[in-house]
Amino acid sequence: MEKFRGIVFYRKKFHDDDLLIKVLTDIYGKKTFFLKRGRKTRNRLSYGLQAFTIGEYIGKISDKSFSFINEVITEKIYQKIYQDIEKSAYVQYIFSLYDSAFEDSKPIANWFQLLECSLDAIENNADTPTLTHAFELKLLNVFGVNLDFFSCQICHRRDLPLDLSFKYDGMICMNHFEKDRYRFHLTSRIVRCIQVLKIGSVKSIAKMQIDPKNMKTLDFICNQIYSNYVGIYPKTKSFIDKLHRSS
Ligand SMILES: [Zn+2]
Repeated sequence: MEKFRGIVFYRKKFHDDDLLIKVLTDIYGKKTFFLKRGRKTRNRLSYGLQAFTIGEYIGKISDKSFSFINEVITEKIYQKIYQDIEKSAYVQYIFSLYDSAFEDSKPIANWFQLLECSLDAIENNADTPTLTHAFELKLLNVFGVNLDFFSCQICHRRDLPLDLSFKYDGMICMNHFEKDRYRFHLTSRIVRCIQVLKIGSVKSIAKMQIDPKNMKTLDFICNQIYSNYVGIYPKTKSFIDKLHRSS
C-alpha cells in the first residue's frame, strides 16, 4: 500500500456500477483507479474522489493496469470551481491539456505542484482564463514546441521591441520586423504578458490584470499557437469557445 496525494481529473462509468477515476498523483503521475461499485450512492470512497477534489489517499498503485484506492485520508473539493460552470470548464480544459501532454505513470511532481497552486488561486478568485493561458504557454515545451518568446530569432537581441512570428518560430525584434509581413503586430504590453504567463509564478500571474481587449488578443494567440504547432483541440476547449460565443 502506498500513501500519496492526488487531484481528481474525471470519473467515467465502467460496467454498471463501477467507476474509472483519473487522478494526477504527486508521486506516480497520472493514474487510473478502478472503484468497485463506485456509482452506488453509499460508497464512501467515491465521495472522496469527486472531480475537482484534492486529497490524501492510501491505495495500491499498479504500473500495468488499474490502481486501487483503499482509504481516503483527507479530501477537499474545490467548491467554487465545482459550482461555477465557466470556472469548471476552464479547469477541465487544463486537465485535458495535462492528459494529452503527459503519459500515464510518468512522475511529474513539479507539474502537480503548479496545478495545485493554480487551483488554490482560482478558488481564491484569481482569473481563470489568465491562468489557463499560462498553462497553455507553459506546457508548450512538453508538447515539443519550443517557441522562444524572449529574444529575436534572427539577431538574439532582447532589448528592443519584439513581435511574434510563426515564420521564425518565436519573437523577432524591430530591426527585423520587415522579415515577416505576417508577424502578429503585438503591443509591447501583450509581449510582456506572454512572457510573464510563460515563466512567471502562479503568484505573479494571479496578480495580473488583463483588460478585455488584451485578453481577446491572448485568446487569439494561444488558439493560433495550438492549432499551428500543437494540433490538439480537446472537447473541453470547444465548450469554452461555445461559452465565449454565447456571451
Ligand atoms: Zn533582431
